[in-house]
Amino acid sequence: MTRFRSPAATASPFDVEAVRAQFPILATQAHGRPLVYLDNAASAQKPRAVVEAVSDYYLGKHANIHRGAYLLSQTATRLYEEARERVARFINAAEPAECLFTRGTTESINLVASSWGMQHLGPGDEIILSLLEHHSNIVPWQLVAERTGARIRVIPIDDAGDLQLDAYYQMLSPRTRLVAIGQVSNALGTINPVAEIIAAAHAIGALVLIDGAQWVAHGRTDVQALDADFYAFSGHKLYGPTGIGVLYGKRRLLDAMPPYQGGGDMIAHVSFTETTFAELPNKFEAGTPHIAGAVGLAAAIDWLDALGLEAVAAHEDALLREATTRLAEIPGLELKGTARDKAGVLSWVAVDPPISTLDMGTRLDLEGICVRTGHHCCEPLMDRLGVTSTARASFGVYNNRDDVERLAGALAEVFARARRRPGAERAAAIAETIAYPGAVAASPAAVAEEIRELFEVLPDWPMRYQQLIELGEGLPAMPEGLKTRANFVSGCQSQVYLAARVRPGTDDVIEFLADADADIVRGLIALLQRLFSGQRAADILAFDASAFFAELGLDQHLSLTRRNGLAAMAQRLRELAGLYRPDPDAP
Ligand code: PLP
Repeated sequence: MTRFRSPAATASPFDVEAVRAQFPILATQAHGRPLVYLDNAASAQKPRAVVEAVSDYYLGKHANIHRGAYLLSQTATRLYEEARERVARFINAAEPAECLFTRGTTESINLVASSWGMQHLGPGDEIILSLLEHHSNIVPWQLVAERTGARIRVIPIDDAGDLQLDAYYQMLSPRTRLVAIGQVSNALGTINPVAEIIAAAHAIGALVLIDGAQWVAHGRTDVQALDADFYAFSGHKLYGPTGIGVLYGKRRLLDAMPPYQGGGDMIAHVSFTETTFAELPNKFEAGTPHIAGAVGLAAAIDWLDALGLEAVAAHEDALLREATTRLAEIPGLELKGTARDKAGVLSWVAVDPPISTLDMGTRLDLEGICVRTGHHCCEPLMDRLGVTSTARASFGVYNNRDDVERLAGALAEVFARARRRPGAERAAAIAETIAYPGAVAASPAAVAEEIRELFEVLPDWPMRYQQLIELGEGLPAMPEGLKTRANFVSGCQSQVYLAARVRPGTDDVIEFLADADADIVRGLIALLQRLFSGQRAADILAFDASAFFAELGLDQHLSLTRRNGLAAMAQRLRELAGLYRPDPDAP
């Protein structure tokens, strides 16, 4: 399966600047820098045509569908069903009724797992997945396997991120009931040979579900040519609205499947003795659907098709190649995922110097560059790669060479800066002696006043971030021996350890050491340490840390996981303080 090699693709003129002009968000700034949006695998931005289609619908055409005798309802119904026809043409389904609207890929897969899976799977049956799968194409199958006694088998990958097809062929057996596989890996960009995978599964009588979430916006989809039994995708990765997606299924399969959810619109007749169900597609669309979403999705498909998917694919491929070359030139950066056939996704880690992906993401963010860091909902894949996370840039139709240039330049600077920092060996040597920090002021409230003043003189978040990093750099080192399981703080995306104790010779003075693998988290630890270490338990409990962090603006500028991590550290200290608070009723 390849998208890029047709002569038409290379010959197509592609005016990326004209495309960019249709996305007002690309002209905005982040942290005072022009936005570079490289998180398209998570969600794509929306062209004006899509936003206008949705707003025209809401402003002039909205009513509930299917049930109204009046013109407006009929108009809304027509638009919704036309959207279904548009989807069917886009993926070359045999008929629109085979295209069900869902909330997205996740719901599409859950629908098949719950409905088809509960009907057809039993003890000893096998479902084949791959190591590249997104959690959305793992967990629904685990849930159904648990309930039916079916077993999950996993196609391994090689070091480049290609599926090991030999292992797949060996796994196929009369016990195989379903193969569920992504067409493109969201974490590595690997394009899987799904036509081959489907043909092999069909040869032994198994069905195949393709997770097309990362494919549909980047290459032509033909479910009939593939002979896919089920095909799932999301609107929001296709330049359409969030909350709308599609499940394609062959009619004979969908017809035989029980409804996924019950409610209005999916019935033929209801009584308390017997309920009969509607025909396709309504049988699977209980309740009022996302009508505007469907309208917006159709507009997105029109828009993308007008650009030409071949031209889009060639453009993104050129960006991928250039970005791959540029990033590979940065010493100490290791690319993850070098499969033979790749979509526009580039994952990497910093090996030397080691820089946490979180810090890379945060530094790039301060330059206005949006990349994703983390496990990308692919924890089994991260385990196989021997990392907990990667940083990922993913290209869309509006990205240009300047975006690649900005990414490569900013990353090179992140590496250069990290290289200038004192080495880990020095920190380890200092850590030989355990030095718990004492109080820096009379009470947490007094420290807070100092920190407040410090933050007030720093005019913007990039400067405050820098200040946090500098505070983090001054953290007393935490000896490796204290980085135990018991001292691990869960709830933080990075590795955080916190060792707290009551200062010897006192009854209620709490002090602590902590460390993390990300600079930004070390900065937050430093704040906590200044606030609390060396303070009396009662004073710690009396201080509302979350309100203080909100006041500093940290809750606006930190991601949810980081905020949760900070809250988890503060909570651990409060718990300890709670144990040592002097009992006011004690004699
Ligand atoms: N499958 C893959 C390969 C994905 O990349 C994603 C989202 O990132 C999903 C499934 C889930 O998509 P959604 O969250 O839109 O349901």
